[in-house]
Amino acid sequence: MSILVDKFENAVLRTEKERNKKRDPARLSISSLGKCVRQLTYRALGHRERGMDGRSALTLAVGTAMHTYLRRAFKKRFRRSKTVRIEGFPKEIETSVVVGGHKIEGHIDGKVWIGGKAYLLELKTMSDWAYRDFVRYDVLDYSYVIQTLAYMEGTGLHTAIVIGVNKNTGEMKEFFIDFEASKKTWLDRKAFLDRHIQSPDLATAPKEYGPDDKSMKLPWQCGYCPFVLECWADRKPKEESRNKFILTS
Ligand code: SF4
Repeated sequence: MSILVDKFENAVLRTEKERNKKRDPARLSISSLGKCVRQLTYRALGHRERGMDGRSALTLAVGTAMHTYLRRAFKKRFRRSKTVRIEGFPKEIETSVVVGGHKIEGHIDGKVWIGGKAYLLELKTMSDWAYRDFVRYDVLDYSYVIQTLAYMEGTGLHTAIVIGVNKNTGEMKEFFIDFEASKKTWLDRKAFLDRHIQSPDLATAPKEYGPDDKSMKLPWQCGYCPFVLECWADRKPKEESRNKFILTS
């Protein structure tokens, strides 16, 4: 039983909704280019998103607040550095790429010059499990890779430093992306998006994620997708626990 928590969670949810009120839900941004193309299609067509709960809203708000804090701390640490020069603080640097005939916009965390060489800087706050995989496999999540490559095309910067930060423990790890070495990944993704974003159509938009055939459980990408119920409606998805779905037919 709770006397205050339910009301408090609702208040958090309302605050987050208020904060995002001006955001156009149908607008695609560079940060969404690595996400499931069917999710982007639902978005582009203006479909209604599944409502978020208070806990998810709070988790998102914590990530946003931590990101703001990290940018401030970064600026403070390096603004007078003799060896590292920074640009993009406090105001993020805007950029854009053309995908599927549309200008898709976004903003990078900053530019950093070390020894005269320019790098694109991205700060990514991560959950415990995402950070654990990032460290264990030394691999950045695919959607972050695509987002960063799009920023690199937009800005013309050819090396990126992505700093992953564990939201719970404060641990940090650097990851480097070389545009030339990863160019094929970006061009393949762009060609794929070109085909589907130009004229968004649910009849042809593929599901990039799906259940494990044996367990019928949907992966986390679907669990956190705002269109999961609509997308899998014919397989009757059931929420087993928060953001974890299993198909029942
Ligand atoms: S539920 Fe999964 S497959 Fe469907 S749009 Fe969302 S991420 Fe893509």
